[in-house]
Amino acid sequence: MRKPGTDESNVAMSDVLCDFCHRQWTEDEPMIEGHHGSCVCGKCVTLAYMQVVLNGDSTAPADFKCPMCLEATADREALERGGEHGWQSPLHDEAVFCERCIKLAADSLHKSKDWGWTKPTLEKA
Ligand SMILES: [Zn+2]
Ligand SMILES: [Zn+2]
Repeated sequence: MRKPGTDESNVAMSDVLCDFCHRQWTEDEPMIEGHHGSCVCGKCVTLAYMQVVLNGDSTAPADFKCPMCLEATADREALERGGEHGWQSPLHDEAVFCERCIKLAADSLHKSKDWGWTKPTLEKA
């Protein structure tokens, strides 16, 4: 998300906030962009990946819309992903990260050479 009052024609790093923890983007933390300016930081991807992908938990309410892909429950049902897990931000209830986006974000951070981010594993968790 963008900090309120951000000039869209001149977006600075500090105007970019993680949708899930509202942290500002800084040089030492990776950030992945979703649709409509939504963003998630590396720390939230780590937490979500451990909980949803490694542990198989879902902390999402039954009905949620993921800010990264903008898919709601009905959209996922139409794509036969209706029962998909999600990760609800412990800080901001309205932010729920769908499992597919968690995996996509983790894959792209893991591949990126710009950040020292690696996918969490069960041993580390
Ligand atoms: Zn975050
Ligand atoms: Zn999603």
